[in-house]
Amino acid sequence: MIYRWASSTDIGRLRDHNEDAVHPSGHGTAGGGFVAAVADGMGGHVAGEVASNLALEAAVETTGGPVPRVRAGNWAVMGRIRDEPELSGMGTTLTLGVFGEDGDLAIGHVGDSRAYLIREGRIRQLTRDHSLVAELIESGRLDPADAAGHPFRSVITRALGLEQDVDVDVVEERLAPGDRVVLCSDGLTSMIDDGDIEEILSGSADPETAVAALVEAANSAGGNDNITVVVVAVADDPED
Ligand code: MN
Repeated sequence: MIYRWASSTDIGRLRDHNEDAVHPSGHGTAGGGFVAAVADGMGGHVAGEVASNLALEAAVETTGGPVPRVRAGNWAVMGRIRDEPELSGMGTTLTLGVFGEDGDLAIGHVGDSRAYLIREGRIRQLTRDHSLVAELIESGRLDPADAAGHPFRSVITRALGLEQDVDVDVVEERLAPGDRVVLCSDGLTSMIDDGDIEEILSGSADPETAVAALVEAANSAGGNDNITVVVVAVADDPED
């Protein structure tokens, strides 16, 4: 397989700094072993940016599957807090995809950033949000229709930087030519719904155009948070 990818991270319309981080930046084409990731930091002042960038860099530099990578991200954030206790309380989400040569995708995930698969025009969320609202919906105590306006919608129940042993969700998928994978922060999904993402991704738009359209849609809907998106389009390797 070959992977054509594009990414963007945008401050949005209301925030005064961007606490999200993304890898890789820009756009390009990659073969197997390609890693893409989104992190959404928290912690006030510059701490959120420190956490998301530290976790992302450590996860990308580590070799292997998604679990050791996400754990490395966790240790990087915890190590910095140990060295600089004034940063205590910072944390970050991390949603990372390892794209293999044969189309195997392995996702490691902590927090409320998301991975989606768009296949044959239909969108499917691959990750489960580690958020209070998602847990209330799963336990039947909250109607999904009331989630968007819920006062605790930004409260997450799992993050990197909080404890030594973080529980990492792993999701595996076998990708096919024509598939598109989206990794994004909640600044996208709190502004537009899955149907909007599906519509933007279902056309023939290249990843760069799709990323720009997603960021624009989130900003047009209010841009209440930082918006970060990676779009990966899967194609046959012409050399096979
Ligand atoms: Mn966010």
